[in-house]
Amino acid sequence: MKIQVVKNILDANDRIADANRSLFDEKKIFVMNLMSSPGAGKTSLVERTIRALRDRCRIGVIEGDIQNTLDADRIAVLGIPVVQINTGGSCHLDANMVREGLSGLNLDALDLLIVENVGNLVCPAEFRIGADANVMILSTPEGADKPSKYPLIFKISSVMIINKIDLLPHLDFERDKARRDALALNRDLNIFEVSCRTGEGLDGWFGWLEERVTQ
Ligand code: MG
Ligand code: ZN
Repeated sequence: MKIQVVKNILDANDRIADANRSLFDEKKIFVMNLMSSPGAGKTSLVERTIRALRDRCRIGVIEGDIQNTLDADRIAVLGIPVVQINTGGSCHLDANMVREGLSGLNLDALDLLIVENVGNLVCPAEFRIGADANVMILSTPEGADKPSKYPLIFKISSVMIINKIDLLPHLDFERDKARRDALALNRDLNIFEVSCRTGEGLDGWFGWLEERVTQ
């Protein structure tokens, strides 16, 4: 019984995600769903990405948080259109929340929409929102065991960004294991090793994204 309820919720979510998908295609917007654990550097990556690409495409942001507007405030100071979704306790964004958030943006004036999901490696991966690409961050302090503990998010992502590589000298992060285990789950995963603090390695990520936004 319980399993059936979960299935119905996900089916309903998928229908709205498909509607979002059609809308994004119609408006010719590339949409990325950015996911990670709390504190892995999602908002820092969004800030870096905006600074790098803002002269080349029109960017908007949806910020998902359980409460408060701290992350949205960080984006708003950059002069980029941003909508805050407070999930009111829910630990992920679903397609309907994104749908409602879209009403706060002028979709005709955007080429790239970045959706920063709630910090969590589990259920954001289960709820499609209709994005073109799922992008996940694994930060080095989290450890290299995450692909084996949370396989779904690695399976559904097009990109894994390994962030905080500036901390590697101070950690026992097994970089090769993280890469190997992630690629074993998803051989098409694009991996970029970066530091959002120093800027190291980010050019590869910017190139990957820009190619998709402007095509
Ligand atoms: Mg954030
Ligand atoms: Zn959740």
